[in-house]
Amino acid sequence: MRPVVKLTPGTYTMSDGSSIDVRNSYNDYHDAKPALVYNLGMFCSYCEEAYHQPRDLHVEHVQPKGYEENGVKIYAHLEKEWSNFLLSCATCNGADNKDTKNVVLTECHLPHLNNTYKSLVYKAGGVVEVNPVLTGDAYNHAKKLLDLVGLGKSPATSRPGDTRYKKRSKDWDLACKYRAKFDAGKIGLDVIVDFVSNRGGWSIWFTVFSGCDDVRNALLDFPGTARQYFDASNHYEPLDRNPGLADPT
Ligand SMILES: [Zn+2]
Repeated sequence: MRPVVKLTPGTYTMSDGSSIDVRNSYNDYHDAKPALVYNLGMFCSYCEEAYHQPRDLHVEHVQPKGYEENGVKIYAHLEKEWSNFLLSCATCNGADNKDTKNVVLTECHLPHLNNTYKSLVYKAGGVVEVNPVLTGDAYNHAKKLLDLVGLGKSPATSRPGDTRYKKRSKDWDLACKYRAKFDAGKIGLDVIVDFVSNRGGWSIWFTVFSGCDDVRNALLDFPGTARQYFDASNHYEPLDRNPGLADPT
């Protein structure tokens, strides 16, 4: 999962010269969407699918505003807080009764707090799994992320209408096809960047273009990507984001 850096609240100048405010807090959480799109691009923060209209992406509450303990919505105070937002598609947002799951920030990997490219591995056939190199807390926290939005669901266990695995499978096949074309000099970097910008699937392309520094470097330029947690001296392989903690991921 593409790791991202959330912008610090303030005023930013967009490429067309207009400005956009990122606020600590919003009167209505829906109002945060333009700033989130500016910050993170038009991608679901979880499944990485690209969208072309902001209406197709939801303002995602990382700690669910509806989650209750003993009849109390314990994260109600975070409903309008920038720090609690990501972007998600309808499928990831509605996955697996997500509102009923407690998200403890130190117990679940999240794309704005961890190097989530290291949390998961992507494979042919649309498979997503916890990265087998992780152990202990790191493994458990990555598994929580996978389960949070049901990203690891297979064709057999997906709800009707959840075709995320199919999309990933197609992305994998396309990435392999275009890697061969790129290596043969038949297409340039711009074709790959256009493809990923318009389709999404960032982690799959980043995986398939392992060892291809030019492409990986370009993918790290996608809006909000946490570039500093990839090792430029080692083919942009992922680095820990929280060194020194029990779970450094
Ligand atoms: Zn999604």
